[in-house]
This record gives sequence, structure tokens and C-alpha cells, in this order.
Amino acid sequence: MVGPSSFFLQLLLQIQAATQTGATPPDTSHDVIVVGAGSAGLYATRTLQALGYDVLLIEATDRIGGRVKTATLGDMRVELGAEEHYLGAGDNPVWPAIRAEYGDDVYTNGYEGLEAYSMDQGAGTCWTTPLALNPCANDPDVARVSEFYDWYWRPELHQDSSASLADEVLATYGVGVDHRAYHLYDEGIAGASYATNLTRLGARSLALQDSQWALSSGIRVLSDKDLGYADALETVWWDEVLAGADVLLSSPVVSIDTSGDDVVSTDLQGRRHMARQIIVTVSVGVLQAEAINFIPDLPETTVQAYNGMGIDSGMKVPLLFSSAWWETENEPLGWLVTEGAAGACWAPSNYKTATESFVLMCYPMGDNARALSELGSEQGSTAAAANAIIAAILEDLDATFPQALGGASANFMEGLVQDWGGAPYTLGVYSFPTQDTYLSATANKRRDLQEPVADSRIFFAGEATHEENPATVVGALQEGERAALAIHAVNGKPNNPP
Ligand SMILES: Cc1cc2nc3c(=O)[nH]c(=O)nc-3n(C[C@H](O)[C@H](O)[C@H](O)COP(=O)(O)OP(=O)(O)OC[C@H]3O[C@@H](n4cnc5c(N)ncnc54)[C@H](O)[C@@H]3O)c2cc1C
Repeated sequence: MVGPSSFFLQLLLQIQAATQTGATPPDTSHDVIVVGAGSAGLYATRTLQALGYDVLLIEATDRIGGRVKTATLGDMRVELGAEEHYLGAGDNPVWPAIRAEYGDDVYTNGYEGLEAYSMDQGAGTCWTTPLALNPCANDPDVARVSEFYDWYWRPELHQDSSASLADEVLATYGVGVDHRAYHLYDEGIAGASYATNLTRLGARSLALQDSQWALSSGIRVLSDKDLGYADALETVWWDEVLAGADVLLSSPVVSIDTSGDDVVSTDLQGRRHMARQIIVTVSVGVLQAEAINFIPDLPETTVQAYNGMGIDSGMKVPLLFSSAWWETENEPLGWLVTEGAAGACWAPSNYKTATESFVLMCYPMGDNARALSELGSEQGSTAAAANAIIAAILEDLDATFPQALGGASANFMEGLVQDWGGAPYTLGVYSFPTQDTYLSATANKRRDLQEPVADSRIFFAGEATHEENPATVVGALQEGERAALAIHAVNGKPNNPP
């Protein structure tokens, strides 16, 4: 006779067996599954396709591109994610591909024009021209910031692996959180370049990372007002990739099971997808939130790898105005750092040719973005949240230029809010080095996360696994390619597991 306890034991064994590979037929079966249709996932798919692999690409949201996302505001395409392109150095595949498709004139310099720095709640805002009412050269606290760029990336100048960049800016420049120039470092550098605050960046870690930078230091942007980064990548690569792959949109992966012979990935709809290997390209924010259940648990080195990097809240907020009210110096504004919610802003309408729209792009990151998100969450609807966030940014801009007080609110027409920290399948802007990330150039968490796990069946790739140029589109593409080639190196050929 079967007693109740052994009955439940049998039932448990049956349930366990049913969740493992082979117990019930999967809904789909492929050589390789790629999780995430951002730059890394799409380029991994492209690489595998070229090698003859049958790929299933699974994406959580209803669109491809991930953190490359273009929208329309006024008469121009504006970037809600990546905007800057790099020249050809470092085997950058984007530079030749886009120029081959659209011609050399597709690129222009971004941020051309004057820099402006808000100081003393706007009363001391200065401009980088000797002809300005208040030239920045007259403000030693502003002039000193230029020294930072020859200091922060040299590991020999940053020996203390426990120091944050805020600690070292205080020790070296005498600029602490209450200093009138703190925002120039915190919002103008930590926010604008690393999408976080000075206090969260590890000074030595950052130097170890950035001293290895392999891409060009030259930056370009797309000049055509009708062409965005996402549009260009779709044309040069992604349309063809999608035509050759099985793609599931709006299908968040919730578990990846390697307890059997194959990999079984289950999506939110309960569909089970089987493959020999899987490439996981979700952001560090998604990994840290443990949004995907790995069965069995990931090794401790992998968990420590993604937990040993930073990723912070951040927004892009393009604002359309009826005039370029901010131009008070008879020369275009290339770059602005404010003291309040906006953070750093620039003017895409200065580089998009033939546009008739006046657009400022603002970039609140870290603490600024968190405060704005909180403000938004206190409102009753998504539209009300966006309005409240935009109103807070306009208030900051209104106070920034003494010659144009109130100009932002008076000329405002329409705006967009892209909150990357609040986007459930990104949960942050891009990865940055904390004190834990780099112990040396080669001993670092990014490299640890590259290590395949589950007997070379799970591979991680994305901007965060690139040791030299993380936080870039190119880095993500290169990592997607690396993971795809690593799979091929294990297999030798499609459908030929070791
Ligand atoms: C505001 C901002 C500005 C930037 N500026 C620049 C710039 O100027 N220049 C530059 O080169 N780079 C820039 N970057 C960085 C660049 O956009 C990223 O490094 C790159 O796009 C990351 O690609 P990825 O494939 O690693 O990740 P992602 O693009 O995030 O792709 C991951 C994909 O996985 C999906 N996903 C998440 N969870 C799941 C799940 N459970 N199941 C299935 N799918 C899932 C996501 O929806 C996403 O589509 C910027 C990024 C942001 C956000």
C-alpha cells in the first residue's frame, strides 16, 4: 500500500521531472537561444546565423534595440538611449557600416559650440568665450575642472582601491559636496559620462578601466534629422537578422534550467524553449534584481561578478521649444551643466541639419533621476508623472541663464521622458565601476562575468562584460560576437554539442 507521505514524494518527483528537460516536449527547439534583442543579442544572433546556427531570439519588451531607442520630437529623430558614435579605432563595426550605407556626410560633430556652467544658483553662470558677459576663464573653480580629464584615468594617481571618486575629488581638488563647484564634477562628469554620482564610482577601479579604453576618443553624431541610431542599425544589420531568426517579442524569460542535458528557458507565458546553449544579454540591473531564475543556481563567481558592478537610475528628457531661448551669446550652446534637476543638457537641434525644431536634451542621472522618478511616482498617471518631471527640469533651466530667466517655461512646447531606471527590463542606464569592479586591469568583474557556466551552456554578454569599452553600443556588439564565437569554439559546428 502506498502511504500518504510516499504519495506526495511520488508527486513531487513527477513535478520535478516535468520541469526538467525532456519530460514534456518543449514548445520550441533551436541550436542556440539568445535572451535580449539589444545590441549584444542582435549581433550575437547575426554572428551565429553567419555560422549556420538556428537561433531563437527572445525579447521581453515589444521592440528590438534595447538601450538604442529613437523617437520623434518636433521634426527630428531624437535619441532616448545611445547617441554618440565613435570613429573606427578598436575594430568598431558601426563606423564603417553606417558610412557605407549613408555616405561620409552622415556623421557630424556633436556638442559644437560653447560650454555653459550654471554657478551660484544661476547668478554666476559662465560661458566658455572671452566675449561672454561672464567668461568661465574668470571663475577659477570652473577653470580647474579641465585638469580632471588628465587625472582621473591614470591608475598610478589612484592607489587607494577603497576610495570613491568623491573622496579623491575632495582630496585633490578640495571640492566636497557643499562646494559651489561640486555639481560640475558630480553631474557634469560622473552623471554625464558614467550615469551615476561621484560617491558611487570607485576611483582606482575607474582608472583601471578607462586606461584600457580601446575606442576612438573622437565622437560623432548622426546629422540627418530624419535618421536615428536605431533606424540606422535596423537598416544596416537588424532587418536582415530578424528575417533570418525566430524572434519572440513581449516574452520575458523567467527561468533558465540547465539541470538536464539541454538548456530549457521558460518565458512569462509559460512556453518552454529548448537549445544546446544560451546567451544571456540582459543588463546588470536585471541580473542584480534576479529577474531570471537560474536552475541550478549560478556559481558564486558569476553572482559576485554582476553584483560587483554598479548601475544607476537615469533619464533622457528631450524638450521642444518655440525658440532657442538659451542662445544668449551669439554662438551655439554645445554643452550645459546645471545645478538642479536637469543635470547636463545639449542641443541636438544644433547638429541635426535642416531641422526647424529647437530641442534641448537633458540628462538627469543618479540622485537627480531618483528624485525625479519619485516625484513622478507621486502623480496619478504616466502622463502626469512626465509633466511633473518636465516641470522640475524647466524650473532648473529657468534659473540657469541670467539673460534668459524664465525662458524655458515661456518657450516650452512638448517633451519626452525616458526613465531607464524605471524601465523594468533594463533597471538602470549602463554599468559603471565601483570599488569592487577592477582589482587590476585583468582581474575584474567584467571578465568574471564572461566566463561560461553550466558546462559551457550559459554565456553572458552585453555592454557590462566588455573590459575595455563597457557602457557603449560598440562594446555590446563586440561582446555579442565574442559569446557567439565562444559557442562555436565549443561546438565546432551547429547542432554538434561536445
Ligand atoms: C541614456 C543612455 C545613453 C547612452 N549613450 C550612449 C552613447 O552615447 N554611445 C554609446 O555607444 N552607448 C551609449 N549608451 C550605452 C548603450 O546604449 C548600451 O551600452 C548598449 O545599447 C547595451 O546593449 P546590450 O545589448 O548590452 O543591452 P540592452 O540594449 O539593454 O539589451 C538587453 C535586452 O534584453 C532585454 N531583456 C531584459 N530582460 C529580459 C528577459 N528577462 N527576457 C528577455 N529579454 C530581456 C531588454 O529588454 C533589452 O532589449 C547609452 C545608454 C543609455 C541608456
